[in-house]
Amino acid sequence: MIILVTGGAGFLGSHMVDYLINQGHEVHVLDNLQTGALVNLEHLNENKLFKFHQHDIIEPWKAPEGVKFDQIYHMACAASPPAYQAVPIHTLLTSVYGCNNMLTLAKEHNARILFTSTSEVYGDPDVHPQKESYWGNVNCTGIRSCYDEGKRAGETLFFDYNRVHKVEVRVARIFNTYGPRMNLLDGRIISNFIYQALSGIPLTVFGDGSQTRSFCYVSDLIEGLVRLQNNTETMGPVNVGNPEEHTVLEMAERIRNVIGAKDGNKIVFEGLPSDDPKKRKPDTTLAKKYLDWEPQVSLEEGLRRTIEDFEKRVGQLKGVGNL
Ligand code: UDP
Repeated sequence: MIILVTGGAGFLGSHMVDYLINQGHEVHVLDNLQTGALVNLEHLNENKLFKFHQHDIIEPWKAPEGVKFDQIYHMACAASPPAYQAVPIHTLLTSVYGCNNMLTLAKEHNARILFTSTSEVYGDPDVHPQKESYWGNVNCTGIRSCYDEGKRAGETLFFDYNRVHKVEVRVARIFNTYGPRMNLLDGRIISNFIYQALSGIPLTVFGDGSQTRSFCYVSDLIEGLVRLQNNTETMGPVNVGNPEEHTVLEMAERIRNVIGAKDGNKIVFEGLPSDDPKKRKPDTTLAKKYLDWEPQVSLEEGLRRTIEDFEKRVGQLKGVGNL
């Protein structure tokens, strides 16, 4: 197949590109390099199956002459709170205009398109664990709204393009994911804690650390997305995430212990950002039923692989030292 991956230079996108190229597909990447980086794809530079296009999906895009896409993985959007909140209007429009532009492309090419939506559509949930049938509890005027409401509007566009234009859509709701290639200074929990522990600086726990998240290793996530894209029984939305739930404080302690506490590695408590969800855990019944999917990589093994990757890259950042 010929497959388009938007956001293909990012953390998740680049793992998707590797997976699809390994399966023998021709893969085109569309990325504005806002949070993605070419270093994530440099090992593919000589690969004939790989094509890169620098473009911001806020603007419409035409495929190169003679290229007809069979499938699209629409994954482009800044996903780390500090990154998406730094340019909130752009974040919202990436989801709204970006989804519209990619759905228009899917319609023209008669391609099936998968949207990487998010557990953030559930906001600060008052149902636990979160099932796909839960409509969520999202503040529409807060600092996270540009991401949450953008993804919610994106999902609406996907289902409306299906109803109005018969575009074949798939919608995945991704929960917190981690693994090699995360941006070292991404600002998210796992990348912050690993970077801080390796650098011998304090681990920053926001609030009292009692809030929870559920962490999925990247290879498990990609497998779930590919199965959903190729599934004929459901369009989604389907939760793709690891249902094992941990508090933030527990993660700080665990990562500090795995890396081996250094003198500077104390845990410090900082203010909780506004609208930070108190708990999050996917109900994965639908993923099991339709995709025969369950996470395979344990937190212990996933952290080991992620730390190994970070160790190689932290040395390159000496002197930055500030998140
Ligand atoms: N967090 C933290 N310290 C950090 C980064 C994040 O305590 O250095 C907390 C954050 O407040 C949230 C959780 O970890 O409760 C997950 O944050 P992240 O930004 O990774 O993703 P989110 O799930 O909030 O989008």
